[in-house]
Amino acid sequence: LVPHLRGLGTTIFAEMSARAEETDAVNLGQGFPDVDGPDDIKRLVADAIWHGPNQYAPGIGFRELREAVAAHQKRFYGLEVDPDSEVLITAGATEAVTAALLAFVDAGDDVIALEPYYDSYAAAIAMARGRRVPVTLHAPDFRLDIAALQAAVTPRTKVILLNSPHNPTGTVLTEEELRAVAEVAVAHDLLVITDEVYEHLVYEGRHIPIATFPGMWERTVTISSAGKTFAFTGWKIGWVTGPEPLVSAVRTVKQFLTYTNAAPMQRGIAAGLGMPDAYFQQLAADLARKRDFLCTGLAELGFTVYPPAGTYFVTVDVRPLGYLDGLAFCRDLPYRVGVAAIPHVVFYDHADIGRPLVRFAFCKREDVLAEALRRLARLR
Ligand code: PMP
Ligand code: GLN
Repeated sequence: LVPHLRGLGTTIFAEMSARAEETDAVNLGQGFPDVDGPDDIKRLVADAIWHGPNQYAPGIGFRELREAVAAHQKRFYGLEVDPDSEVLITAGATEAVTAALLAFVDAGDDVIALEPYYDSYAAAIAMARGRRVPVTLHAPDFRLDIAALQAAVTPRTKVILLNSPHNPTGTVLTEEELRAVAEVAVAHDLLVITDEVYEHLVYEGRHIPIATFPGMWERTVTISSAGKTFAFTGWKIGWVTGPEPLVSAVRTVKQFLTYTNAAPMQRGIAAGLGMPDAYFQQLAADLARKRDFLCTGLAELGFTVYPPAGTYFVTVDVRPLGYLDGLAFCRDLPYRVGVAAIPHVVFYDHADIGRPLVRFAFCKREDVLAEALRRLARLR
C-alpha cells in the first residue's frame, strides 16, 4: 500500500461486525436495519431483475430515478433541480463523497470536516492527498462551534465537508448553525460537500439542506442515498445534486470509479422517492420510539447517554461504568456480554476527546434492543 494510505487499515465496521459474528452478538455496531424496506419497492426490483433492465444503466443514472431525486428535493426543500444536468446517481453516498473529494481537492488542499467524522471521509481526503482539518463537536450537546470553524479556515482551505444529521453524534445542525457555515463558505469562497444521508431520520428540529441558503446553491454538492431512507443499505444507490458545473466534475470522476450503478435497484428507489409523506413520517416515528427505548435502557444501566436529534445512533460515555477506553470496551464487549458497538475514537484526530465515547445503533427490532439491554446489564 502506498505510504499516504497506510494506517487506513480495516474499517471499524468490518472489524466489529466480524467480532459480532464470531460471538453471535447482538450487533448494534454497524448501522443497518434488521428489517428490510417496503415490499412494494422489493417487488419492483424483483420485476426489474426478471424483465430488465439488467444491462448497464446510463452513466448518470436512469432518467426515472434522476427525475424522482429532483422531485424529492422540490417536495421536501423547495429546491428546483434539473434532472438532466444537476443530478448524478452513484454507488451509495460513499462513492459520491469520494468522487466529490477527488474532483475538487488537490494535493495539499485543506478540507474542514466535523469531528467525529465518518471514517470514509478521512480515507477519501487521504486518497485526494488533501489535509483533514477537524472542527470538533463536543459533548454533551455536540453543537457546532462557529468560532472554531472560522479559526479552521486557512489560505489552503478548499472544501467544508458537512454531515447533518451527523454520524455518529446525532446532531442535526440548526438553521443558525447552517447560516453561519454558509457565511464562512461565501466569505472565503469555499465549496461545501454535504452528506445528508440521514435527512429523513430526524426526531427533533428539522433537516435543512445547506444548499437552500443564500449564495450556497452554486457552491454546494449535496449527497444522499437510499440506504437509510428506505432500509436497503445493501443496494448502494446514492445521488448527488448541485449546479451543473459541480455535478459534471463529480461525474467525470464517478465514471472512472464505477461507470454506472445497479440497474434494477434504480427502478425501485425511483418509486420509493415518490412515496407519500406518511411513509417518511412513519419512518421517523418508528425510529424515535426505538431511540427512546434504547436511550432509557442505557441510562438505567449507568451510561451517560447523549440522546440524538437525528440518525439511528446514540452516543454514550462509558466512564460511569468504570471503563476509560471506548475502543477496548468495544473490542471486548462481544466476548464479554454478546453485544457489538462502535468506538468513537476512530472518528477523531483528537483521540483524547473521543476515547470514552461509544456508539450504539437503534435501527433494530425492539425485542433485539431489549435483548441487547439484558446482555449489557451483565456488565454491572
Ligand atoms: N455517510 C454517512 C454519514 C453514513 O453514515 C453512511 C453509512 N451508511 C454513508 C455515508 C454511506 O452511505 P451509502 O451506504 O449510501 O454509501
Ligand atoms: N454508515 C453505517 C455506519 O455508520 C455503515 C458503515 C459501513 O459499514 N461502512 O455504521
